Amino acid sequence: MTQPIQGPVGDPALNAAVDPRKLTVEQWRSLLDPLEFAILRESATERPGTGRYLEDPGPGAFHCAGCGHKLYGAGHKFHSGCGWPSFFEEVEPGALEIHRDVSHFMVRTEMRCARCGGHMGHIFDDGPRDAAGKRRNRHCVNGFAIVYVPEGASVAEAFTAHRRKRAT
Ligand SMILES: [Zn+2]
Repeated sequence: MTQPIQGPVGDPALNAAVDPRKLTVEQWRSLLDPLEFAILRESATERPGTGRYLEDPGPGAFHCAGCGHKLYGAGHKFHSGCGWPSFFEEVEPGALEIHRDVSHFMVRTEMRCARCGGHMGHIFDDGPRDAAGKRRNRHCVNGFAIVYVPEGASVAEAFTAHRRKRAT
C-alpha cells in the first residue's frame, strides 16, 4: 500500500529533498489537479485556448507544475496564436528532456521536465525569427503543465499559493 502525500512535506515543488522520480501514481494524483495529472503524467493535451497563461502574466518564470523545476523565462514567451502558451527556448540547456514521440500516427518532438519527467508538450520548428533572421523553435506547452512564479517571489511561495487554490 502506498500512502498518499501528507501535506507539503512530500511535494517536490516545496521540498528539494523529495525525488519526484520516486513518487507513485497515487502520490502524483494526490498532489496535482486532475488536468495537471492527465497532462504531466499521462501525456494528455489540453484543448487549444483553454489552458493557463495564454496571456502573459508578467515578468518572472514558468516552472513545472509537477515538481517546481524552472523551465522557461517570461522573456522566452511569445504569441504564436496556436492556442497554447509558446516559448522559443527553455530557460537553460538541460532544463528539458527531448524525446521522439511517434504516437497518434505522427513523428513529433516531445519535451519533458528534466527533473520529474512530466510531459510538457511538443517542439516545432516554426517559431519567431531571431535578430539574424534564423527561425527559432516553438515550444508548444500545455498551460496546465506549468506554474508562473512572479519575479521576486520564491518557488515555495508561488507553489504554496498554487496548491492551496487546488484545495479550495
Ligand atoms: Zn517537473
